Amino acid sequence: MGKVKASEAVVKLFENWGIDHIYGIPGDSIDTMVEALRKEENKIKFYTVRHEEVASLAAAAYSKLTGKIGVCLAIGGPGAIHLLNGMYDAKMDHVPMLVLVGHIPARLTGTDYFQEVDTVELFKDVAVYNKEITSAESFPTVVNQAIRTAYQERGVAVLSIPDDIALGEISDGAPQLSTVFEKKIPGLVQNDLNDAVALINSANNPVILAGVGAKSAKKELRAFAERISAPVAVTLPGKGAISDDHPNFIGNIGKIGTKPAYEAMKSADLLIMIGTDYPYAAYLPEGAKCVQIDIDPLKIGKRYSVTVGIVGDAANALSNLTEHITPVADRPFLKTCQSKMSTWWKWMTEDQDKKQTPIAPEALMAAIESISEEDTIYSVDVGTSTVWSTRYLKVSEKQDFIVSAWLGTMGCGLPGAIAAKQAFPERQAIAISGDGAFAMVMQDFVTAVHYKLPIIMIILNNKQLAFIKYEQQSVGQLKYAVDFGDIDYAKFAEACGGKGFRVENYEDLQPALEQAKASNVPVILDVEVDVNAAPLPGKIVMDEAKGYAKFTAKSITENHKLEKMPPMKTVVRRFL
Ligand code: FAD
Repeated sequence: MGKVKASEAVVKLFENWGIDHIYGIPGDSIDTMVEALRKEENKIKFYTVRHEEVASLAAAAYSKLTGKIGVCLAIGGPGAIHLLNGMYDAKMDHVPMLVLVGHIPARLTGTDYFQEVDTVELFKDVAVYNKEITSAESFPTVVNQAIRTAYQERGVAVLSIPDDIALGEISDGAPQLSTVFEKKIPGLVQNDLNDAVALINSANNPVILAGVGAKSAKKELRAFAERISAPVAVTLPGKGAISDDHPNFIGNIGKIGTKPAYEAMKSADLLIMIGTDYPYAAYLPEGAKCVQIDIDPLKIGKRYSVTVGIVGDAANALSNLTEHITPVADRPFLKTCQSKMSTWWKWMTEDQDKKQTPIAPEALMAAIESISEEDTIYSVDVGTSTVWSTRYLKVSEKQDFIVSAWLGTMGCGLPGAIAAKQAFPERQAIAISGDGAFAMVMQDFVTAVHYKLPIIMIILNNKQLAFIKYEQQSVGQLKYAVDFGDIDYAKFAEACGGKGFRVENYEDLQPALEQAKASNVPVILDVEVDVNAAPLPGKIVMDEAKGYAKFTAKSITENHKLEKMPPMKTVVRRFL
């Protein structure tokens, strides 16, 4: 019987699990794993990024888009620490991730060696599986358990690998370890389904709230909503669970949401939550009955007082309910929602029609939509870019829309687009970021160039942390520490070997986007947007109005000037 290096046996296992790429940066403590990956480079592609944070954010995005495990790799110490942000993104948005980090040689552990960081301790809070490899023999078995656990728990599995152990040899006759994994999906309970049917049949004003868990049940969600003629609101990461132009769609809820969704929630007598852990209770109905469908029993009743909980897969549960509920062809409540929604879209169109310079972010979204394709993947960043994209881009069920929803980390736009283009080379990948967010990861635009991933990177350039400025103002504080200097990102794109367009005038916007679309290389569109564009909530509540009034008074008394206010017409429409 022959011998094989443990690292090489493990790489074979990765292949058996269907892992075909890894994002990372090599280095001394992980070099043996990297050497084993090199030998299989035709089967597992290594994407060398320029900062480890981008590796983990891209791995998280890949998993959000495909449901498959995202894999990233770094040295121990600093490399491992840099991975943390993307690892938390995966943890908080519940997607499987495998993280391989190097470690100092086992024989030196505990000697305060160069770059010695206790990675098991470091990753305790973020990981669902977190082991240091202690022997070459057990390495493959531990890898299998790590991957299974990441899938089952929808979280991050970390392996800290001392380089000398990866180098160790094991028998090549070791029994083939099984990579079969059967995900545990809870079976539906008939009584719960019956109770839900009774509640739905007796409701006059049911509202559906679809979250990211409903995205695996788009067809079933549509059929269910149409069968009972119910309006459908979506959470931010749930955008795309039903097409924005579906007649039952009433938009997002929350600050980012629409006024019709807010009002529908306030007059609902039944809330039907599907695949969502939506956190902002103030936007949910007051005292309505509630049916909640979730694959995770711990989520039932976590945010809202639930009358009937259905534990199970959204697609199965919705098919069953659709089959058994009494169809409603004509529901006055839906008609009211639809009429409010048509007014809402009229307002949105007015916003998007602003043909001004500096460019209105709303108009930019219309222009982006005009070059989008049937199955475009939008990777949206955190900041005002989140608000403009969520509110103004009409996303369809065939498209994808991803964001760092729970961690809310800036800088997720570019890594998401890299992952999108890698996973789906034939689909258009558009990233939308503010200049603040993009600058946090901009070095990795060159990664897209290097690997010939023709993404379209849109930057809303206002030389400001505009979302933070808006937060300060809406609680009555004065703008502080949010301004920064300008970078010409178009020149930067060219310096990286991609294409860049600096767009300062409205007239140049559409032609630049058309050229970006036609380019077969990564492109940056650096768009100077109106610094005064305020990302107002869809429904302005009293506290926000008071905060803004306080800010205005303060800027007069302390700064002796009246700051530019959002248009009064918009404020009044959204407030009343
Ligand atoms: P999750 O919390 O991830 O919940 C998904 C649920 O689906 C889980 O409970 C899971 O168990 C379940 N599930 C998964 N698969 C299945 C399946 N097959 N069948 C059944 N269940 C399944 N969000 C808003 O909605 N409105 C806002 O205004 C808003 N503003 C934001 C602003 C910023 C700048 C940022 C960064 C984020 C904002 N968010 C907003 C996002 C917010 O923080 C939450 O992440 C989001 O509301 C949670 O959405 P969710 O419930 O769909 O996802």
